[in-house]
Amino acid sequence: MLPPELQKVEFTCPSCKKALSLTLDIVFKRASVQCIHCKCVVEFAGSHVARTLQSVSDVEKGAARIAEVRTEYTKTVERFKGAVADLLKTAKISS
Ligand SMILES: [Zn+2]
Repeated sequence: MLPPELQKVEFTCPSCKKALSLTLDIVFKRASVQCIHCKCVVEFAGSHVARTLQSVSDVEKGAARIAEVRTEYTKTVERFKGAVADLLKTAKISS
């Protein structure tokens, strides 16, 4: 699954020149899109789709690694907070 910020793309219809917001899943699966404004069908070259799908896979792997690092970071922060809490428990009045 692509990160949300990469799931949509702005595209200008080559026929009516109006802006379209495309969902990448649809573009990849169909390799063609119908313009909601002028109803023309815009096709995308198949070989580019294959190459882009490889890029999608790379991005998804990157996103998965980021998620792993984020999880590890969260655990580390929790361990740090625990260590600080333990340290604070050792507080005593020195006389
Ligand atoms: Zn159009």
